[in-house]
Amino acid sequence: MKRSIQVYGISSLVILLGSLFIISCAQNALTGKSQLSLVSEQEIQALSLTQYQDFLKTSTVIAPAKDARAQMVQRVGKKITASVEAYFAEKNNKDFLKGYQWEYNLVKNDTTINAWCMPGGKIVVYTGILPVTKNETALAFVMGHEVSHALLQHGNKRMSESMIQELGGSVLSAAISSKPKETQDLFMRAYGIGTTVGIMLPFSREQELEADKFGLLWAAKSGYDPTEAMAFWERMQKSKSGEAPPEFLSTHPSDATRIQKIKEYLPEALKFYKK
Ligand SMILES: [Zn+2]
Repeated sequence: MKRSIQVYGISSLVILLGSLFIISCAQNALTGKSQLSLVSEQEIQALSLTQYQDFLKTSTVIAPAKDARAQMVQRVGKKITASVEAYFAEKNNKDFLKGYQWEYNLVKNDTTINAWCMPGGKIVVYTGILPVTKNETALAFVMGHEVSHALLQHGNKRMSESMIQELGGSVLSAAISSKPKETQDLFMRAYGIGTTVGIMLPFSREQELEADKFGLLWAAKSGYDPTEAMAFWERMQKSKSGEAPPEFLSTHPSDATRIQKIKEYLPEALKFYKK
């Protein structure tokens, strides 16, 4: 009798833990990996849209009509996102991009070497990164990398981890209504929306390498020569001495690892390369 109660107790615990795992983990369509997710893609896209609109109101967006740089950001962005859409269509998984409405902005900020893409497809490139990218192909690597962070749901993972640490693991909708300011701050740090890197939570080494890899594939699929990637990342690393290193120059991965990995991704990227 005692034994059967014990067995019953343990199996209930297993079922309980199992269901918690199902609730709080989501499988990513690109990597097939499960990751912690206390925020649904739908919730995070809604919050992203609000923050994005606030950001644009307080920033100087350069209109593409008369600016060749802004036109380039639009052109590269459209090619990269068309490749992403084609990829998911080929995989019969268009639903993964549900809610995505791409927008591409060049924002005037010459001292910040940065770019980002929010869940839902809102992309911002700062003018400060253009002297480092130097050419359209390198901009494609940057934009591909940022779009990949969004698609790989890296920000969602950081946000979920912070919600456990700082907001007691409440779900996003509850956190927004009970602690709006704290939730918004967490969001800004998790997605790197602020202009200062100091307030941003770093991505892990593994996440950066994943974003590099898929970014390279999208760029190649869009017609940008992936063999230029090594020279670009070397150029980026030299710009590290500046006061505001971009998120993709966080301390992980090390320079040598990054360049080595890019070399390893090249054969696959070349299969995607459309001349
Ligand atoms: Zn990154």
